[in-house]
Amino acid sequence: MNEIIFAPATAVGLAAISIIRVSGKGCKKILRDMINGNIPKERVISLRSFYNPKKMTLIDKCIVCWVPKNSSFTGEDSFEIHCHGGTAVMNSFFDALLTFKNVRLAEQGEFSKRSIINGKMNLIDAEAVNDLINAETEQQMFLALKQINKSLAIPIKKWRKLLIKSMSHIEANIDFSDEEDVAEKNIYNKYLLKLEKEMQQMLINSREYKYIKEGISIVLTGKPNAGKSSLFNSIIKSNKSIVTDVPGTTRDVIESKININGYPVTFVDTAGIDKTNNKIEKEGIKRAKEQIKKANIVLNIIDSSNYSDVEINQKHWNVFNKVDKIYKNKEDFIKPKTFFRVSAKSGKGIENLIKAISEHITSRTENIRNANYFYSSFRQRKELEDTSEYLKHAIIEKDDEIKAEYLRLANKSLGRMLGQADIEEVLGEIFSSFCIGK
Ligand code: GDP
Repeated sequence: MNEIIFAPATAVGLAAISIIRVSGKGCKKILRDMINGNIPKERVISLRSFYNPKKMTLIDKCIVCWVPKNSSFTGEDSFEIHCHGGTAVMNSFFDALLTFKNVRLAEQGEFSKRSIINGKMNLIDAEAVNDLINAETEQQMFLALKQINKSLAIPIKKWRKLLIKSMSHIEANIDFSDEEDVAEKNIYNKYLLKLEKEMQQMLINSREYKYIKEGISIVLTGKPNAGKSSLFNSIIKSNKSIVTDVPGTTRDVIESKININGYPVTFVDTAGIDKTNNKIEKEGIKRAKEQIKKANIVLNIIDSSNYSDVEINQKHWNVFNKVDKIYKNKEDFIKPKTFFRVSAKSGKGIENLIKAISEHITSRTENIRNANYFYSSFRQRKELEDTSEYLKHAIIEKDDEIKAEYLRLANKSLGRMLGQADIEEVLGEIFSSFCIGK
């Protein structure tokens, strides 16, 4: 933590402006040397000429903002250079910064990590900011913003307070367990029960966070030549998958992600499932089956001009393709209750299918979209589940010492959630997915 770190905060490449962040104890001297003058007023953007202090060559004339530790993002002295964009300027700044001792390029997410360690922000908020940066669709953005705005940290801090209160009460009474304490003990158990219930509710409400954050996967399966690749291409509006009348053309897994009403949806075209002795086709079928297992929705594509009833699969969404071959009237495309009728060739019925997918996701994500507080990562879910388990044990435990120990474990889990316990263990893993300048 004693090292001074720097990193580009904007994308590297040709740009009008690029931003470089510098943070760490002692960076004030670096700024002074690079601008060859006095430090500008804090938190005020100021125009300065920057030099490479070793060569005394001019690097750029640009804006800088000096932010001392009390008001900075990292909780350390820091400054931001808003230089002219482009590779040469950026590299010149990096060269100049590296001439100073104890300075290095930041690791991914290191600014946020320092901010957490210095108590400037909690881990849940940092994760939410990262989610916002990575958001590709409106719903992902909505979820990240909601987490930033009404953070899960709020109920967690409240729960921790209650846990600590219960713990200290139990510990204080461990050696004085007479009859009078019983009533008070019951009150604390009541609190813990209420707390556990709140956690359970949150676990239920947030269950489908993945639908929004990671999106859903929809696999197209069916017999060779049913029209899977044609339908796949029609849905993604591109000729990504090869279409021929030769059965067994698709032998690998082909994926494409599209945005349906703000949700990321990945469509997966797979090899048709049929008996074959061909080694490559067999491998394709194996891969198709693996995809089906992982899918959120399976579209079972059936050639409506040539099929047998055994092809209908009650566990999947049955999609009768090639209806242009058998139906001539528009009315025939009206969505039936259990099946979909489409024509990959004419595009008829596809809108209905997409609408049904959209409705499915919307209904599955209703709880999390309406929840006040929710978890939004696997890590948070795991800690919450562990906390709830510890609490359940604590509630039924008769021995006060063991009860207090369970509460301690529950409190530690919640602390880890906020990045306030077992810090190094938790942070290393998480920040590997962050941008370098964040
Ligand atoms: P896959 O093996 O299931 O991926 O099927 P393909 O998409 O490769 O299609 C097999 C054949 O059926 C091709 O000749 C397609 O042009 C044809 N086909 C696919 N969808 C339709 C459709 O909706 N209507 C008609 N008439 N032909 C289709």
